[in-house]
Amino acid sequence: MHLKNYIDGVLVPPYSSNYLDNINPATGKVYSQIPDSDERDVQLAVEAAEKAFLHWSSCGIEQRSRMLMRIADLIEQKLENLAIAETTDSGKAITTSRTIDIPRAQANFRFFANAITQFGSESFHMEHQAINYTLRQPLGVVGCISPWNLPLYLFTWKIAPALAAGNCVVAKPSELTPMTAFLLSQICIEAGLPAGVLNIVHGLGNKTGQAIVEHPKVKAISFTGGTDTGRKIAQVAAPMFKKLSLELGGKNANLIFADCDFEKAVETTVRSSFANNGQICLCGSRVYVQRPLYERFRDELMKRTQDLKTGNPLDTTNDLGALVSPQHLEKVMGYLDLAKAEGGTILCGGERLEVGGENAGGYFLSPAIIEGLSNEARCNQEEIFGLVITIAPFDTEAEAITLANGTSYGLSSTVWTQDISRANRVAEQLQAGIVWVNCWMLRDLRTPFGGVKNSGVGREGGFEALRFFTEAKNVCVWYG
Ligand code: NDP
Repeated sequence: MHLKNYIDGVLVPPYSSNYLDNINPATGKVYSQIPDSDERDVQLAVEAAEKAFLHWSSCGIEQRSRMLMRIADLIEQKLENLAIAETTDSGKAITTSRTIDIPRAQANFRFFANAITQFGSESFHMEHQAINYTLRQPLGVVGCISPWNLPLYLFTWKIAPALAAGNCVVAKPSELTPMTAFLLSQICIEAGLPAGVLNIVHGLGNKTGQAIVEHPKVKAISFTGGTDTGRKIAQVAAPMFKKLSLELGGKNANLIFADCDFEKAVETTVRSSFANNGQICLCGSRVYVQRPLYERFRDELMKRTQDLKTGNPLDTTNDLGALVSPQHLEKVMGYLDLAKAEGGTILCGGERLEVGGENAGGYFLSPAIIEGLSNEARCNQEEIFGLVITIAPFDTEAEAITLANGTSYGLSSTVWTQDISRANRVAEQLQAGIVWVNCWMLRDLRTPFGGVKNSGVGREGGFEALRFFTEAKNVCVWYG
């Protein structure tokens, strides 16, 4: 099966006629091919987007909102097909695709279809018979680049607000997980989205992605991915004065205080450690437990981690599937070797699993917990992003905060305590863009989403996203 680019409202082959293999990580076999697009495809996409901008930006909020709703409806109708495609592409458990990825993709379109109808701007009266009001105007052509871990979920999280605000988009999904983006292009055609409003160009990050970032007509880049890639993108885009939203890596801490609700904390920590094969930027990868509870919590966490079932991701009885690629599997396993070299003990997991049958060539790994590492160890400092967590004890609240803040990242944290004052105190002092107290991944799409330090710049979600995808223009009127 050859996937196609979606440019100017139609599905087209790449300019070069070259394709890249798309591998099913649960079998290790090539199951489709994707366009190996280059700057010529990006050029066509930008031209189409520019051409569509005048109509799309001026057609009115109601019309744009209705169109996004139609796309949301179609995603909902095709949930099962999309979920199977997402799992086949990424190796994630089908339950995750069915209950998280695809429902959230439709929710993204629905949410921004509504949000744009509620999006207002400020006005300021002056003393001397003058009034200021702010226009929020779309930017023009914008670029959206997303990663492989939550493919359609994150792709639509960028595209929906960009379109709602009246921009036209050139978007690139990860080359590792292109299938649902391709299916989205078919959905947009079925929904009747005007030609050129959304363009999806497949290909490699350092070729297709780079061409989008470098294109002078692309006014803003909304990027989610690794910190190193974010840095490269900023180096290209910042001197061109493009607006930049960078959602980058994390090394998130879970702080488990001795007075927590034990059952809820342990059950959620298993989920926050290993959901989506540990490949969520919000996964807690460093678990810190207050000493009186440490051994009990560690042992229960280990037991429940060992109970997780890994195997064919399309089989609903499995909790975990395959890691996304052989390179990623190798990277994650490299950290297990490093952990031993750094003096850590692997309490459980970390073994390559041979699933057999049609999944014999898949990239399966058992979930691992490491103990005994210093906070400065590389395994506690670098993002591993897949089925490996560390655990360590702490004594005081101040120590917990120091440990949690002791990395270059600052995306999210969880705090588990029954003491409401402590929960608020700790949340205030954590260097993170998002803090969950006694829960994890409880998402309200109206809230600001993003990280501090090396986890990124800017905020997505709600009106923050609509502000990013618009330019503020102040109009000052004197009526004296
Ligand atoms: P990458 O940074 O490797 O890639 C992300 C996207 O950028 C892909 O589409 C990639 O294409 C593209 N890309 C790569 N190089 C360039 C370039 N030079 N110019 C433009 N685009 C480029 O990240 P991963 O796909 O490996 O995703 C995992 C990372 O994403 C983790 O660090 C994770 O923490 C982070 N992430 C952050 C989230 C957040 O909200 N903060 C949410 C989810 C993930 P290709 O795949 O073809 O290389």
